[in-house]
Amino acid sequence: MSEGNDKTKPTLIVNEGIEQPHTLNTESINQYRKKKIVRLNEPDYYIDGILAGDITILSKAITLIESSLSKHRETGQKVIDGCIGHSGNSLRIGITGVPGVGKSSFIETFGTYLTKNGNKVAVLAIDPSSQISGGSILGDKTRMEELSRNEMAFIRPSPSAGSLGGVARKTRETIILCEAAGFNIIIIETVGVGQSEIAVHSMVDFFLLLMLAGAGDELQGIKRGIMEMADMIAINKADGENIHKAKMAKVEYSNALHLYAPSESGWFPKVVTCSARTSAGLSDIWKLIKDFETLTRQNKFFELRRREQAKYWMYETLIESLKSEFFNDEKIKVLLPNFEKMVTNNNLSSFKAAAELIKVYKGE
Ligand code: GDP
Repeated sequence: MSEGNDKTKPTLIVNEGIEQPHTLNTESINQYRKKKIVRLNEPDYYIDGILAGDITILSKAITLIESSLSKHRETGQKVIDGCIGHSGNSLRIGITGVPGVGKSSFIETFGTYLTKNGNKVAVLAIDPSSQISGGSILGDKTRMEELSRNEMAFIRPSPSAGSLGGVARKTRETIILCEAAGFNIIIIETVGVGQSEIAVHSMVDFFLLLMLAGAGDELQGIKRGIMEMADMIAINKADGENIHKAKMAKVEYSNALHLYAPSESGWFPKVVTCSARTSAGLSDIWKLIKDFETLTRQNKFFELRRREQAKYWMYETLIESLKSEFFNDEKIKVLLPNFEKMVTNNNLSSFKAAAELIKVYKGE
């Protein structure tokens, strides 16, 4: 019988262990571990890492901002404070459009194009769907595979928990960290299904709306207000048999946009066709975005809009913080169900109820 068939021998051969070298100093390893933990609570650890362009540390810092633990958020705020002086040097581009229009495909191709031109691109997302459905429209697919492997790019999915206001604030803070880490183009993506476009519009310099040609009604559920906010409409999937339809849609949308009042920026919104699949039109889009930047920097609208946005976010953060403090107040939590009952049973007016609750909150 050959050795290989000898059933009396175990199939798994266990080698004798290697003796640990005596020089291994467990004391110093423990000290190192402790130091590392201490470092993880130090804002400087994150600030230094971010300013050095360390993506892993950038990700960890964003996690702090997104955390529900107040200790983490406190450190996160200090990191933001340390980074804010190094932020602002980017072009922030918002991208929206209905599911299926090709947002992730567009960002994949456009982002790759931008990195090839020497840009560092961060892609952030605001996904309001997770709040309603518990799932996510933007996050479920394998998205932007090529870009996610690109060293010049950083992709971060939408913060998931909390109200749209909370999610948007976290994204706004994340922009600061990404800019401090050297990303000069920040793309913020959202699904064009509601309020989230307004939130994105309030944190970007340029707002791009992706549309499709001939997909049912001409506005495809995109509200008029959203079209009015757009600095550019790009009709995507202009490839193959679709090219002709896309060109026709371009004329239609250009005519529709002419009906709107001119924007304060001095920029007249452009309508273009493009294909995320073939890359057609992407260099034109980039050229137009650069034209927009040049114009609005010259006429100071760029700066003005950013200041307005900073003010807007101060108020948004104030409102959000006050709201969350109020609803997390122990006294209020106890009283609310009763007040709700009284209001729904018509035993107390909504306004009186609110006034009473505020009094309790203020301890009056
Ligand atoms: P999103 O939901 O807006 O992010 O859309 P996706 O990027 O996931 O694209 C939806 C579908 O449209 C996918 O099957 C894509 O392959 C396809 N698609 C995206 N861009 C183009 C394009 O430019 N041309 C064509 N023909 N198909 C595209």
